[in-house]
Amino acid sequence: MNFYLTEEQEAIRDGIREFVAKEIAPRAAEYDRTHEFPWENFRQLATHGYLCMNIPEKYGGAGADYLSYAIAVEELARGCATTAVIFEVHNSLHSEALLHFGTEEQKLKYLPRLAKGEILGAYALTEPTAGSNPAAMKTRAVKQGDHYVLNGQKSFITNGGQADLYVVMASTDPAAGGKGISAFIVPRETPGMSFGKPEEKLGIRASHTTDVFFNDAVVPAENLLGAEGDGMKIALATLDGGRVGIASQGCGLVQAALDICVPYAKTREQFGRPIADFQAIQWKLADMATDLEAARLLLYRAAFLRGEGVRATREISMAKLFASEMAMRHTVEAVQILGGYGFMTEYKVERLMRDAKITQLYEGTSEIQRMIIASYVLKG
Ligand SMILES: Cc1cc2nc3c(=O)[nH]c(=O)nc-3n(C[C@H](O)[C@H](O)[C@H](O)COP(=O)(O)OP(=O)(O)OC[C@H]3O[C@@H](n4cnc5c(N)ncnc54)[C@H](O)[C@@H]3O)c2cc1C
Repeated sequence: MNFYLTEEQEAIRDGIREFVAKEIAPRAAEYDRTHEFPWENFRQLATHGYLCMNIPEKYGGAGADYLSYAIAVEELARGCATTAVIFEVHNSLHSEALLHFGTEEQKLKYLPRLAKGEILGAYALTEPTAGSNPAAMKTRAVKQGDHYVLNGQKSFITNGGQADLYVVMASTDPAAGGKGISAFIVPRETPGMSFGKPEEKLGIRASHTTDVFFNDAVVPAENLLGAEGDGMKIALATLDGGRVGIASQGCGLVQAALDICVPYAKTREQFGRPIADFQAIQWKLADMATDLEAARLLLYRAAFLRGEGVRATREISMAKLFASEMAMRHTVEAVQILGGYGFMTEYKVERLMRDAKITQLYEGTSEIQRMIIASYVLKG
């Protein structure tokens, strides 16, 4: 066992850390305020070769290992959690679905364009009445000759309306329940496809989240991803990658909180002393640093296993659960450390706290992660 990053992983981490500090972090507050989709960040991520960095070079990616990718999401979230989730959905939920389940033709058609940032990807599983239980989805896909006709509604879709290409799950055989769901690659300009208004959100505010509507939307049969009935398998396997990204997001947010809290505690004086002299503050910082390291270890193991091609649902759910719970806990504590200033937008920790909440909800809530983990525990 070896706890050191390789030289290449360190170089990737240092490179993206510098890039985020210079280009991404300074714009984060403004994007949060305006809710404007951060296209400039996406373009720069493409220019620097970070998009699809874990996709093989043959398909236009950088061929980086999965741990390097997880570290990149973490560094992005340290500067801007909104940009981190846009990047994560584009990479894990969209591009990896194509990589692992697409035909050679589909991969060659789309992945190089996704890697160059010519197109943005999204992933559409959730529906208004099918969230934690996506198998209950109502969106239907009916085969008619050489195409499928889709009808239904997806909700809370990240990059909705902005993305060019959507991986969409729809039922081709409702009687078969979860086994009757299929996955499709659906371009934005598909006739019969439309988008709702971006939701007003608590956090990750510049990542547009919308409904996606299908009203007799015509999708060519060649855009079926995998075989008919593979949809849930594809959705869940893809979510494993996504959940690594959300664990990274949680770690990045807590690192950002520490980055702010430590110098603040050393310089803010009360009762004639820096507040860092008070044990109450020291213990908060010690717990924050310790939990962050624990989350990182779970995350790095999960990312490593996924990179090895091992089915690591248990380890990934543990990393996602632990990292997102600690992100919420410690970003609340970060506000506490800054006192009244923590409540003010200018001091940035309130944004971290708002952004952290979503990590406990999307890509499977904390309750769903516990259900998954418990199923492994009970199997013995
Ligand atoms: C900002 C944002 C972005 C998102 N992006 C995407 C996206 O890009 N693509 C996509 O497909 N989806 C996306 N989602 C959807 C997200 O994954 C779902 O919101 C999430 O899975 C929970 O589903 P739900 O909101 O319907 O909650 P529900 O399933 O209604 O859950 C409500 C509550 O009940 C609990 N609960 C449900 N079932 C159980 C159970 N069996 N045992 C115990 N507790 C249970 C939940 O944990 C939760 O606390 C996004 C959501 C948000 C908010």
